[in-house]
Amino acid sequence: MKNPDADSRRGFFWRASLAGRLLCGLTAAGEGSLSAQVNSPNFRYDLLVRGGRVVDPSQNLFDDRDVAITAGRIVQLGAGISESEARQVLNAKEKIVTPGLIDVHVHVYDGVAPLGIPADPNCVAKGVTTVVDAGSAGAHTFPGLRKYVIKAVDTRVYALLNISVVGQSTYSPDNPFGELLDLRYVNPRLTIKAIEQNRDTILGVKIRLTRNLAGEHDLRALGLAREAADAVKLPLMVHIGGSYSALQEILAMLKPGDVITHSFRGRDGGILDDKERVLPQVRAAVDRGVHLDVGHGAGSFSFDTAEKAFRQDLLPGTISSDLHQYNLNGPVFDLATTLSKFLYLGLTLPQVIERATANAARLFAFPQGLGTLRLGAEADVAVFSLEEGNFEFVDSVGARRTGHQKLVPVATVKSGRLYGSASIPVVSAS
Ligand SMILES: [Zn+2]
Repeated sequence: MKNPDADSRRGFFWRASLAGRLLCGLTAAGEGSLSAQVNSPNFRYDLLVRGGRVVDPSQNLFDDRDVAITAGRIVQLGAGISESEARQVLNAKEKIVTPGLIDVHVHVYDGVAPLGIPADPNCVAKGVTTVVDAGSAGAHTFPGLRKYVIKAVDTRVYALLNISVVGQSTYSPDNPFGELLDLRYVNPRLTIKAIEQNRDTILGVKIRLTRNLAGEHDLRALGLAREAADAVKLPLMVHIGGSYSALQEILAMLKPGDVITHSFRGRDGGILDDKERVLPQVRAAVDRGVHLDVGHGAGSFSFDTAEKAFRQDLLPGTISSDLHQYNLNGPVFDLATTLSKFLYLGLTLPQVIERATANAARLFAFPQGLGTLRLGAEADVAVFSLEEGNFEFVDSVGARRTGHQKLVPVATVKSGRLYGSASIPVVSAS
């Protein structure tokens, strides 16, 4: 998506600080860094990501490839493309190169929803080119999300509109009262109107059903969210766990294309019965086209639940972080760390990447062809190092596991523009 406010103050400062890092890197050009080249009108490509191991599940591709980019599009995906053909070259040898990651559950309404975080240092700087803000804003507060976040940041931000008009502005750990405790704040007519006016950025409806957020009238609130989602023909994302009503009753109200987030949570209201078997209603929902999303979060991902569900052949369709203020400094940190936890759990690298690229792109109707490195696609690329060692991972209930692989973001390309990560400087010729 073209950012109409690309020169906004925020965007400017982000890029300015990035430029500082780019310059620092000029003297440290080595493996995985970008080498500067002399400008020439003869260059065929703007940027060449060269020599990396490309993992692109959208085309069943797991091989060494060079990715050539011109005018913000993928224009070549081959082997042995000459460095001299590109104005900038990113040496990705021994790195993992994937489509730009898509995180379908984050909270980036920084400064309005108490859980909001700044998007750019946590998303585009860490391999995530596209995010879906999952309900931070409702009909009353969405205009601010659009104006001050979606149009102002470099990360590509879409939204699910909270069925409560106040969005997630009421809740913080010091004021633990959610947006649905008073159903007078649920107004499907206003929700529908806001979506109709912002169809370019709103991709669905979000509802949270935990008891301290939705009280005892969760099914009534869900019915109103259902009404709004059906009216605009968009999916409904439902945050499950700890609700007054049983998960089976919630699942019965979901339709094909809807999304359950926090699918592998550990406490009450999760997907396992008291004998730790996957509920038959969960399988039935998946069979009829309801998607299971991870939405790790501060309280919503349990290794134990995931291990038990995986042993019963129930895997998530998408892996998202639910990154926000209260998990940013652990246990979530970022999407790459969340993906690494699924490597620990036994998913292969392509399976993990698929759940944050191709599968995520199928979940919502993103206007561009995201989640793929196919020729002609938006030039969103993420570069990671896959580090080997002993890494301790912590879930949302404090359980620890030692994994042996960790994806660490190195650089990101969004619409052909290069971003470095905080950890590794890159050098730009431009
Ligand atoms: Zn969330």
